[in-house]
Amino acid sequence: MKSEKLFELTSRYMPGGVSSPVRAYKPYPFFTVHAKGSRIYDVDGREYIDYCLAYGPLVLGHGNEEVKDAVREQLEKGWLYGTPHEKEIDLAKKITTHYPSVEMVRFVNTGSEATMAGIRLARGFKERDKIVKIEGGFHGAHDGVLVKAGSGATTFGIPDSKGIPKDSVKNTLQVPFNDAAALTTMLEKNSGEVAAVIIEPVMGNVGPIPPQNNYLSDVRKITAENDVSLILDEVITGFRLALGGAQEFYGVDADLTILGKIVGGGFPIGMFGGKREIMELIAPSGAVYQAGTFSGNPVSITAGLKTIEILEREEVPGRINKLGERMRTALSEILRDSGVEGYVSGVGSMFKVFFSPNGAEVKNYADALKCDKDRYMRFFHKMLSSGIFLPPSQFETNFISFTHNDADIKRTVEAYKENLYA
Ligand SMILES: *Cc1c(COP(=O)(O)O)cnc(C)c1O
Repeated sequence: MKSEKLFELTSRYMPGGVSSPVRAYKPYPFFTVHAKGSRIYDVDGREYIDYCLAYGPLVLGHGNEEVKDAVREQLEKGWLYGTPHEKEIDLAKKITTHYPSVEMVRFVNTGSEATMAGIRLARGFKERDKIVKIEGGFHGAHDGVLVKAGSGATTFGIPDSKGIPKDSVKNTLQVPFNDAAALTTMLEKNSGEVAAVIIEPVMGNVGPIPPQNNYLSDVRKITAENDVSLILDEVITGFRLALGGAQEFYGVDADLTILGKIVGGGFPIGMFGGKREIMELIAPSGAVYQAGTFSGNPVSITAGLKTIEILEREEVPGRINKLGERMRTALSEILRDSGVEGYVSGVGSMFKVFFSPNGAEVKNYADALKCDKDRYMRFFHKMLSSGIFLPPSQFETNFISFTHNDADIKRTVEAYKENLYA
C-alpha cells in the first residue's frame, strides 16, 4: 500500500502524520492524488464517493470547472495585492443581501480567525470579558473556545486542550445545546459580565445535531433580554442550509455572523460581519484591532463569488437538501429493519448515523459522547472498503454536494445496508 508507506514518511516530519488532527485515523489515512465531482482517488488507485468533502467547504463537489476558470482568470491578474480590490465589494454585497443581519463584513483567512476576531469584537462592544459557548461546540482552534470543544478535540479525547492559560478559559462559560432554560440561568447568574453567546445553529462538529422546536428563536430572545450579543457561527451552515444559512432556514437573526468554508469556494477564507454599529468598532474605523496579510486575497474572494453565483443560479441548497432528506429516510429504514442500535441525525444536506444506546435521539454533546465510537470506526473502515469515504469520526458530519447524484445515493444506501452489522 502506497498510502501506508507515505504515512510512515509524513509521520517522521509531521506530528501524527497530518496537517490537521481530524485527518488522522488508524492504521493510516489514504493519500489523495486527485478528486473530481463527488469522487476522491487515492494513491493506490482506489475511488471513493466522498461524503467528507474536506469537512464542509466543497458544496459544489471537487474541481468545479466554472470556479476553476474564474480562479485561472484571476491568477493572470495576480493573486495577492495588499490593496483593496473590486471583487471584495461584490462578495460583501452577496453576503449582506443573503444575510440581512449583516450590514458590514471583514474578510479573514479561516473560520478560526473569524471567530477569534468576532469574539474580540463582541467583547470590545460590550466591554465585558465573559462569553458563553455550547458544550461540544467547535469554533476553531484558539484559546478561548477550546473548552469542551467538538471536532478533532473530541475525537482525540482532548476537548480541553493543554497549553491554554487558566485565565483565558475562566471567561468561557458552557451550556448544553437545545436547553434554553440552562442559557437563561447562566446569563442571569453572570448578569452584566457576559459579552456574547456563540453558537453553531446546527451543531456540526459532534455530528450534525439540529436545533429542536423553537430553540434558536429562544436563544435570540434570551440574549436580547439579557443585553448579550448573539454570535451565530455559520461556518458550516452558511450558504449550505439555504443561501441565507440557518438564519434564513430557521428564521432567526444574529448580532454577529461568522462565515467560512463555502464562502471561499474551497479556498481559505473566513468572515465576520454584523450590524454597522458593532462592525465600525473594528480598526481602522474603531479601536478593536484585527489584521491579516492574506485577508481578502483575490483568489479566495473570486472562488467564493463564483461559487455563490452557481448556488444562486442552480438553487443548490434546496436541491442538496432534498438529497439529504432522501438519504436520512433511507438510512432510518435500514436501521429500523436491521435492529442495530442507532439514530439517523441531520438536517438539509448534513447527515450522520450515531450508534447511540437503544437508538436514542442525540440532542446535545452529552448524548453524542454516549455513542459507540469504536463501532463507528469499524463501520467507517467497512464503508471505505465499499468505496465510500465518510468522515473518520463518529463526531464529524457527512456532507452531500451538488455533484452527488441519485446513483451515488443509491450505492451509498446499499453500502450502509451491507456494512451496518459491523
Ligand atoms: C470548521 C469550523 C470552524 C473553523 O474554521 P477553519 O477554517 O477550520 O479555521 C469554525 N466554526 C465551525 C462551526 C466550523 O465548522
